[in-house]
Amino acid sequence: MTETVTGGPAAGPVGGLAIEVRGLRKSYGAVDAVAGIDLDVHRGEVFALLGPNGAGKTTTVEILEGYRDRTAGEVTVLGHDPARPDARWRTRIGIVLQSTSDQADLSVDEVVRQFHTYYPAPRDPDAVIDAVGLTEKRSARVRTLSGGQRRRLDVALGILGDPELLFLDEPTTGFDPEARRQFWELIESLKAEGTTILLTTHYLEEAERLADRVGVIAAGRLIEVGTPATLGGRAVAATTVSWLEDGEPRSVRTDSPTRTVRELSSRFEGGEIPELAVLRPSLEDIYLRMITTDATAEPVA
Ligand code: ATP
Repeated sequence: MTETVTGGPAAGPVGGLAIEVRGLRKSYGAVDAVAGIDLDVHRGEVFALLGPNGAGKTTTVEILEGYRDRTAGEVTVLGHDPARPDARWRTRIGIVLQSTSDQADLSVDEVVRQFHTYYPAPRDPDAVIDAVGLTEKRSARVRTLSGGQRRRLDVALGILGDPELLFLDEPTTGFDPEARRQFWELIESLKAEGTTILLTTHYLEEAERLADRVGVIAAGRLIEVGTPATLGGRAVAATTVSWLEDGEPRSVRTDSPTRTVRELSSRFEGGEIPELAVLRPSLEDIYLRMITTDATAEPVA
């Protein structure tokens, strides 16, 4: 298994940086897909990149993986420049690309065993197949798998080499809710072993559940980085308290929901407050507010 890094993200500077990016740019002709990104990902951290379609997430991730060249900027991944990868470095990272694996005529078992030979210290292939929930499909040809099952196979191939750093580009697209939850548990167990994970996702719930920190990319710029609980001022954003009174729905937005509930409680003389709900803005509320208000905001340092 992976070398265990103690402490996790809170101990980031102690564990060191798995990824360090300064002034990253990537242009395709006149299109600035990545327009100057600075980013640090600590060892042992799960970092989620969020952003609308075309924001530059995949471009960024593929540059970090060594699959795309860059126009400008400094990039260090596990101590190496990914533009000059060596074979040993490649075995230390795991990659789950957006596109599905293309080994149509092989069985799941054959594909996993073939990839198994590429790594110096791989995980047990059977354990990996079980971990991604493909035990029943072990002998099935890849072309007969459903979209979600193919995605599971992609994840299996990404973790097979027991990577120190795992890149997951929209890993759970096409997963049913149960498969998504199983995947989340798998990611949590990899994190517990010390694996650093950079993932992109359009599922805010996924980012909230898995990520220590999230970064929001819009129009090629990183507009904010924070924890899921505090991103975009979420921790101090106004809360909505709602209830039913005299048969009418009532609600107030407040910065002091506890005081509001206490006042309501005395108004209802300590009895049940009908249909009481205290709602903080969800990560999705905050995220949507951020990307609709300003994609051209000053990037964070
Ligand atoms: P999605 O959420 O849809 O996967 P993304 O945030 O990953 O989007 P990218 O795939 O990084 O976005 O694309 C960023 C921008 O760069 C887009 O405008 C896209 O059209 C452009 N782009 C990406 N790859 C190329 C390419 N090979 N040639 C030209 N333009 C490209």
